[in-house]
Amino acid sequence: MSYSSVQWPPELSEEQRNALIVLATTYSLSHSLLYLPQLESPPFAPTSAIHAPFSLLPTPFPRFLFERAKRLQNLYNVLYARVALDVEFLDRVMGAEIGVGKVDSFTRDIWTGWKQARDEGFTQPLHLGIFRSDYLLHLPPGASTPGLKQVEFNTISSSFGALSEQVAKLHRHLVQATGYYGVSPILKAANIPPNSALSGIVQGLIEGHKAAGDLTAAILFVVLDGERNIFDQRLLEYELLERAGIKVVRQSMKQLKTSATLEGKERRLRIKTNTIDTLASVIYFRATYAPNVDLQTRDEVETRILLERSFAIKCPSLQLQLAGGKRVQQELTAPGVLEHFLPDHFPSDLTEIRDSWMTMWSLDAPSLPDFPSTSGFERARQYHPNLVLKPQREGGGNNIYKTSIPPFLDTLPEEEREAWIAMELIQPPQDVHNWLVRAGGANDGAHLANIVSELGVYGWALFGEGREVQEKEVGWLLRTKGKESDEGGIAVGYSVLDSVVLT
Ligand code: ADP
Ligand code: MG
Ligand code: MG
Repeated sequence: MSYSSVQWPPELSEEQRNALIVLATTYSLSHSLLYLPQLESPPFAPTSAIHAPFSLLPTPFPRFLFERAKRLQNLYNVLYARVALDVEFLDRVMGAEIGVGKVDSFTRDIWTGWKQARDEGFTQPLHLGIFRSDYLLHLPPGASTPGLKQVEFNTISSSFGALSEQVAKLHRHLVQATGYYGVSPILKAANIPPNSALSGIVQGLIEGHKAAGDLTAAILFVVLDGERNIFDQRLLEYELLERAGIKVVRQSMKQLKTSATLEGKERRLRIKTNTIDTLASVIYFRATYAPNVDLQTRDEVETRILLERSFAIKCPSLQLQLAGGKRVQQELTAPGVLEHFLPDHFPSDLTEIRDSWMTMWSLDAPSLPDFPSTSGFERARQYHPNLVLKPQREGGGNNIYKTSIPPFLDTLPEEEREAWIAMELIQPPQDVHNWLVRAGGANDGAHLANIVSELGVYGWALFGEGREVQEKEVGWLLRTKGKESDEGGIAVGYSVLDSVVLT
């Protein structure tokens, strides 16, 4: 069945729907598809959890574009590894002397920390990336087949890998247990592709651990205080221990201020508390992606720099975090830049990457390739109904859309333009619906929503100067949100975990 001929969701009777909801919620609760509940003051040890928000049915996705997204991941893994190693490029685009760091304090802190560590000289030459490249289907009015367009490429704290595997299993379970009562010919197990994001991400961490050389060391997870998405992290920890015998220690930035020290000429990272005393092989950041959360105070920034200076392999290093900046994503689209980074790749690979991009420019561009007499700023104003503006931030909720753009431009100080990119809006297919199921308070239960689904593909890369990039594509995630919200953050309650049913 072709993608465009599928009506979604198929008709389910109320009885069928209720039976599926019971199967789905209990499956989720049995298989760690969970969040901690939102509480004013979380208890010292949790005693209960709620199921993560999910869609009752998987959402249709064209098979050829799913395959393309997976193929692209191998290319993007190499591309972003090389961007992270290109000091001249990152200084120019993100640096505090001539780049975005001049005008954006968060970028400046990250770049300055990296500069300090690199001026001292690194003892650890390797970097580890756990990435998620995000896409929307693009189907402008009049087009007959959808395309695949990249929303962004995440190099830090790419979340939901573990839960994505669980939600794909949930939908597979519902197919096996009920066949969804035969309501749609496409709802069969063969159309739900395998997803091993959890074990794939763990494999990346194991490769980093082995490369760091001290097999008795632990992996350090840097986490947020009061993290509600903790099961997405715990599942990785359990697998590291059970599969590879690798211990994990969890620390927040606040705890690391006193627990982290560097030892010896190599600056080995030791974590020492009343209950922990271990060297760390890899630092996996599930935090420090947002300045207003845990990279705010001078102490926190100093602690981050100490971690960067250590012998441990950083996932990501500061330079790899910078490489994930929205401004870098935009710079990659400038003529010749892709060729600079991937000179050893086939032209067809570069074409496939380029085809995954929307038009982007920076708000401080004096002129644009297609509009030589128009500045980036003016073009954003003229073309605003078709645009989103993005700053150098992660974690959702930072973008400016469509009609909000002109008033925003009116108040944006001129010197800050450099920190913002304009990106043409992707136009996802219309009239796709699904049943979204949520737990907790007033949102309890299922509701039918007009949806947009964002595909994320996971990959990891282990790399360093003068060495082939070791990389792998490891799995995928669909995040589905009700159309009423512009943004895609699941944890803030706008969107749900979903999986694909291929057409
Ligand atoms: P963040 O790093 O904060 O997640 P994103 O670039 O992913 O930033 O933007 C957040 C959300 O905004 C996306 O999940 C998507 O829903 C929406 N969005 C971003 N870029 C576009 C675009 N070009 N077209 C349509 N929607 C977009
Ligand atoms: Mg992001
Ligand atoms: Mg995003």
